[in-house]
Amino acid sequence: MRRPVARNLTVLVVSAAVVSVGAAAPPGAPAATPTKSPVAVGYGGAVASVDPDASAAGIEILKKGGNAVDAAVATAAALGVTEPYSAGIGGGGYFVHYDAKSRTVQTIDGRETAPLTAGSDLFLENGKPIPFAEAVSSGLAVGTPGTPATWQKALDKWGSKGLRSVLRPAERLARDGFTVDDTFRAQTAANETRFRYFPDTAELFLPGGELPVVGSTFKNPDLARTYAELGREGVGALYRGDIGEDVVATVNEPPVVPASGWNARPGELSVKDLAAYRAKFQAPTKTAYRGLDVYSIAPSSSGGTTVGEALNILEGTDLSKASDARYLHRFIEASRIAFADRGRWVGDPAFEDVPAKELLSQRYADSRACLIKDDAVLTSPVAPGDPRDPADCDARGTAAPTTYEGESTTHLTTADKWGNVVSYTLTIEQTGGSGITVPGRGFILNNELTDFSFAPANPAVHDPNLPGPGKRPRSSISPTIVLDRHGEPVVALGSPGGATIITTVLQTLTGFVDRGLPLVEAIAAPRASQRNAAQTELEPGLYDSALRTRLEAIGHSFRANPEIGAATGVQRLPDGRWLAAAEKTRRGGGSAMVVHPALR
Ligand code: GLU
Repeated sequence: MRRPVARNLTVLVVSAAVVSVGAAAPPGAPAATPTKSPVAVGYGGAVASVDPDASAAGIEILKKGGNAVDAAVATAAALGVTEPYSAGIGGGGYFVHYDAKSRTVQTIDGRETAPLTAGSDLFLENGKPIPFAEAVSSGLAVGTPGTPATWQKALDKWGSKGLRSVLRPAERLARDGFTVDDTFRAQTAANETRFRYFPDTAELFLPGGELPVVGSTFKNPDLARTYAELGREGVGALYRGDIGEDVVATVNEPPVVPASGWNARPGELSVKDLAAYRAKFQAPTKTAYRGLDVYSIAPSSSGGTTVGEALNILEGTDLSKASDARYLHRFIEASRIAFADRGRWVGDPAFEDVPAKELLSQRYADSRACLIKDDAVLTSPVAPGDPRDPADCDARGTAAPTTYEGESTTHLTTADKWGNVVSYTLTIEQTGGSGITVPGRGFILNNELTDFSFAPANPAVHDPNLPGPGKRPRSSISPTIVLDRHGEPVVALGSPGGATIITTVLQTLTGFVDRGLPLVEAIAAPRASQRNAAQTELEPGLYDSALRTRLEAIGHSFRANPEIGAATGVQRLPDGRWLAAAEKTRRGGGSAMVVHPALR
């Protein structure tokens, strides 16, 4: 059943938000940390990210006349300073852009690539997969960074400012410093042991050999210089120049403290890999849902096809009228099924025949939805179907478990006064990436290649996510932009969280579109994540609730997960204002800002 307009779109719920951006500080002194709020409403453009300094960087660029793309790159670069364990020029990401003039959505795949020498045995030793944790902190895991190329491509195509000027706020932040908060300290602490293996990482992130103190000023002058060089010389400094040479040397011989005994396996990245790297324009995925069009990223990420398939499966249920238990049950089962198909069918389309269009067909979703019962739970792993040949209640494939993916990354969402929108998720994979800092450059290298399957998820079936030369590892990143039937933006959002990104985006979208939650409440709602496993993960707000018992009674099995994801989003209000929204409490709370706050 299709309802013409989702009910939330006419509901205007706005919380007051006071935003003060970057009070001027004397040169060389760190600016006061901008006030942090999970929601902001107003005119002139909006930025939502996990961090107030980063959101302020985007707002600064918007105030200088920049557009949503300029602001997105400025915010991302600032996140490279204040969230260096999740984002930065040593990683990759996926950029989704809505162009207000043409009312179209386009995307950039800026995913890291495997070295041109990589084979499917990249993570095998003596025929056996190397332990995941050993692979993470190694040169072997480092893919060719895609983030600098993504920024340049986005600016060239849609931006109004040059790289140099949009990097300026981040360069200043790196040089003058930012104030350490609990999240930064906690993330450093969680990485402390392995950071000590790598002398450049320890020197930068454990100043004086200690964890950074909350409230102290953290400076990264090496990164300030790197940003200045990229601004001056362009991203060629990384893909064809001296920064790139340093990256290659570091990957191929990771500098390790000898006494640590850590076996940091070398990678095989070469200057050829860097020179060959391209961020790619590609068509978005598009899913019709409740009269709206949901755009997201196509493979090499599994985000768009998996969120889209699950939405199509859910389309047949009126979630606005369902009880909380029925809503959660349907959401869990739709996720379970969509993950079965993701595992079987999605990989890098430059190497694999990925039936992306078929995965997103309503006919296929209906054939899979018929597996869902209201009084019973599907047994995982559920087998995939065949989207190229849908059959009713289809589950003819061979079941395979979902492979493990690390969880880190960051999502930002921007909008401008012209109506353009960006939804951008960038990552260095694990929190802290490979743990390897490029000496003298101030940034950590990714471990994105551990998103490949080390060995086939099921030896009897082709795994589309095995490593290959120049191949992109499958991602779960799902930056999303939703348009109404006139092609006007309604909402844009995304989240970090490895494979849980998909369930977080799906749950937030259905919370907003179907359950009538204001965007900030849809983001704050306690999360569940089912990824074709026996147990569904629940955040405490659900785990400790009566809902859990009700769902267990029909056969669900749960385990607690203290925190899933860290979403941000923007919403276009019917009167033309922007509402920016971020987390209220996860990761210490996010930061929503608008250029001209306007209270009701
Ligand atoms: N590497 C993950 C992916 O691309 C993202 C990591 C995360 O967001 O936590 O799916």
